[in-house]
Amino acid sequence: MNVPSFSSAAALSPSTLAFLARQHGHFIGGRWVHPTDGALIDIHDPATGERIAGCAAGGAAEIDAAVRAARAAFEGPWSRFTAAQRSAVLWKIADLVQQNFQQLCELEILDNGLPTPLAQYVCGMVVPDFFRYYAGWPTKIEGATIPAAPQGKLPGEALSFTLREPIGVVGAITPWNSPLPMVMLKIAPALATGCTLVLKPAELTPLTAMRLAELCQEAGVPDGVINIVNGYGEDAGAALAAHPGVDKIAFTGSTEVGRLIVKAAAGNLKKVTLELGGKSPVVVFPDADLEQVIPGAARACFFLQGQNCMAGTRLFVHEKIHDKVVEGVAAVARAMKIGPGLDPSSEFGPLISAEQRNRVAGFVDAGRKEGAEVVCGGNAPTRPGYFFEPTVLARTRNDMTPVKSEIFGPVLCVQTFGDDDLDSVARAANSTIYGLSGSVWTRDLGTAMKMVRKIDSGQVSVNMHAAIDPAMPFGGNKQSGWGREFGKEGLEPYLKTKGISMTW
Ligand code: NAD
Repeated sequence: MNVPSFSSAAALSPSTLAFLARQHGHFIGGRWVHPTDGALIDIHDPATGERIAGCAAGGAAEIDAAVRAARAAFEGPWSRFTAAQRSAVLWKIADLVQQNFQQLCELEILDNGLPTPLAQYVCGMVVPDFFRYYAGWPTKIEGATIPAAPQGKLPGEALSFTLREPIGVVGAITPWNSPLPMVMLKIAPALATGCTLVLKPAELTPLTAMRLAELCQEAGVPDGVINIVNGYGEDAGAALAAHPGVDKIAFTGSTEVGRLIVKAAAGNLKKVTLELGGKSPVVVFPDADLEQVIPGAARACFFLQGQNCMAGTRLFVHEKIHDKVVEGVAAVARAMKIGPGLDPSSEFGPLISAEQRNRVAGFVDAGRKEGAEVVCGGNAPTRPGYFFEPTVLARTRNDMTPVKSEIFGPVLCVQTFGDDDLDSVARAANSTIYGLSGSVWTRDLGTAMKMVRKIDSGQVSVNMHAAIDPAMPFGGNKQSGWGREFGKEGLEPYLKTKGISMTW
């Protein structure tokens, strides 16, 4: 095994080292399955570029076995769990995540590169809180009695009501940018509603998904309810999206692949929810509190090194405060300590891969050529790993390449407005194919509420950005997706409604 070369690698807990050293296959029907042939995927630490583990690359055969296991569990043991028993299991998963906090943090950092404090927040709070929130739902999934008059029956001669039922076998496909939360977002509502799941995690970051599947089993989830098939998108992912035994696909990833998922799902018209890309606006009015705005706008873009679907990557600042805000955000960016996530003092980790770093650099170069001013950053530091400096591009326009595209990296594009007509500000903010998140910064509640209505995004925050909570629905408008995750709405795509009328 190659132990990560980061200087504190010796400090990794024995359970993490043992997990990395394992031979990783697929989790099907409650046990690890190790194909004897087929390709292997190397898993790298983005902070060093070194191989830290490997896993099997599955394809159609493994997907088919996993779908069969999920169907058997759906019709078998899982269907006999009461709602209260499903609640107890979800609650226990949250407890086990907290008990395995250290190992999950280390695996998530090694896999994705995120800084230690963020990993601690994710594994210690975000994930357990989310499972506990959904632990409250199974006993509250209710149908309705309907005042219908089927076939002319009078009141008292018939009863009509609805039954909410689990949709069945769910195929889940997740991206690499926030591996454990992305998987949590699929597993928790599936378990709460009584569905079973076949998950294909991102090939770049499968570690915590595999460990979470084991914790779910330990919490009492029956064999076959959660299955994991590792593999590449065009093989395992495509086979899952097309499989006729899958009732619904829950996909998070790029808009481009989202389109392929829709096509693949058409064969059996499986239901599809899509959480896709974003290019979210941050709109700052001249009366805003700059003490809040400057760190807030920096965090909105540079959180997770900008590899974040909600990232506020287009900053619209009123001309009266433009220079102050841009200089302030650039100062925050310059002061960020870049380093490996495992170093607790690092504030800004690596990008996920060399390919992603080169892609980000390409967007910055295109911006330069098209006339943008590089206020700070713009380079890949010379050190091992896939680092790229937090970058602020000023004097950008809507027609510039870095403004039009989802870069998925730490590049903030600043535009200015002098116009106090809210419609024209909103038009500029909405001038993208995406509509995922966005924020408005002002002390004027009237301006805030008018802008909230005008911005065409699934989420708009005021004087903060990307305000996420387990209870708040989240999802995309326009080409940022179909459907919502989080909250009560996040259960809906996992349920179907049966209408029942009876007479006597
Ligand atoms: P991606 O679309 O390349 O891959 C996502 C997943 O799809 C991976 O597991 C991949 O293996 C799989 N995949 C690739 N090709 C496939 C195919 N033909 N059929 C089936 N599956 C396939 O995205 P990525 O690079 O992993 O992640 C970055 C993207 O994810 C960004 O666009 C980002 O905005 C988006 N994202 C959205 C949200 C959200 O909630 N809206 C959250 C996180 C990330």
